[in-house]
Amino acid sequence: MMTESIDAAEIRAEPYPTCTICGREGEFIYFEQQDRMFDAPGEWNLKQCTNEQCRLVWLDPMPIKEDIGKAYAHYYTHTSQSNERHVGMLKRIYFLLKREYLTSKYNYQFKSNSLLIPCIGQFLYLFPLRRAEADGEVRFLNAVPSGKLLDVGCGSGDWLLSMRELGWEVTGVDFDESAVKEGRERGLTVYCENLEQLNFPNESFDAVCLNHVIEHVYDPVRTLKECARILRPGGKLVVSTPNGSSLGHRIYKKYWRGLEPPRHLHIFSFQSIHQAISLAGFQKTTVMPQVADSIIYESHLLRRGWQSSFVGARRQWLIWFFARFFCKAELLLTKWKPSLADCVTVIAVK
Ligand SMILES: [Zn+2]
Repeated sequence: MMTESIDAAEIRAEPYPTCTICGREGEFIYFEQQDRMFDAPGEWNLKQCTNEQCRLVWLDPMPIKEDIGKAYAHYYTHTSQSNERHVGMLKRIYFLLKREYLTSKYNYQFKSNSLLIPCIGQFLYLFPLRRAEADGEVRFLNAVPSGKLLDVGCGSGDWLLSMRELGWEVTGVDFDESAVKEGRERGLTVYCENLEQLNFPNESFDAVCLNHVIEHVYDPVRTLKECARILRPGGKLVVSTPNGSSLGHRIYKKYWRGLEPPRHLHIFSFQSIHQAISLAGFQKTTVMPQVADSIIYESHLLRRGWQSSFVGARRQWLIWFFARFFCKAELLLTKWKPSLADCVTVIAVK
C-alpha cells in the first residue's frame, strides 16, 4: 500500500519486497538511511537478495516514479569539465603514453601519434591504475570509424565530445534538462527523454554505454532489453555500476558511496549484473572489476560526517592519498578475487 504524502517535498514510496532479477525475497541490511550527499528527504531501508547467486541490493520501500525527481533536486553530477590548458611535464608524458596505449590496444588514431617510438604506450602497463583510467576513457571500445555510439545518462556530453574526436558519431540521452541544454549548445545530439520513450529504430547503434546509470532505473532488465534492440548484431553494450559485494562496501558499510539512497534503486553485484544482462538477451558477456578511488575517497568523507557539502569542496589530500593507496591494494586483491572491486564493468556483445 502506498504511503500518504504529508508535505510536498516528501518522496512517497511503496513496498518492494522481492528481487527484480531473481524474484527471491531479501533481508534488510540497513534501516532508516538518509541521503548523506544531496539532502533528498526521507529515510530508506535497504535489502539484499538472499540468493547467493544474485545478492542484489535494493530499496524497500522504493520511491514511486512520480516522486523520484525530488531525489534529484540538489543533485550535482553534470557540470562540464574545463580543459586544463597548463599541464605539467609529467601530465604531458602521461597524455603521450595514453595516446600510444589507446592506439595500440584499441586502434584509435591521433594526429600527434609518435612515429619514432610507437611502442611507448606499453609503458602504461607499469601503471595499472593509469591504464585502468585509459581503458575507462574509451569504455573498452575499439575504434569503429564512423561507428554510431549512444551514451545513456550523458550529462552535458564531455565524454561524447571526446569520443566524437576519436571518430565516433555520437548521440546522448539524459533526463537532466540543464545538462541536455549545455550538451546541445556544444553541438551534440542529445535527447531529454527516457531511452524507451525515444524508440530508436532497431539496430541503430554500434555501441551503447550506460556509465553509472543502471543503478538509477526502475526496471533494469527492461532498459537492457531496449539496449539490445537498438544495437546492431555484433554491437557492444558497456555497463558500469557500483559493486555491492565490494571490499569498500564491506569496510564502509552504510557509509559506502555506492549505496546513495534514494537515487540508487538497485545496487548490483557481479552475479546480479551478469544475470540482468543475460535476461536482456545478450550472449557473450565479460564482467570486469574496476577500482574507483573516488568511491573510497567519498565513502571516507561520508563516514566522517562531512555531509552533502563535500561535493565541489576542496580536496582533502591526506584522504585522497589514502584512497589512491587503497585502490592500488584493491587492484592487487582483484587479481585473486575480482568481485572485491568497488565497481563492475560489463561488456556484452549482441
Ligand atoms: Zn536476486
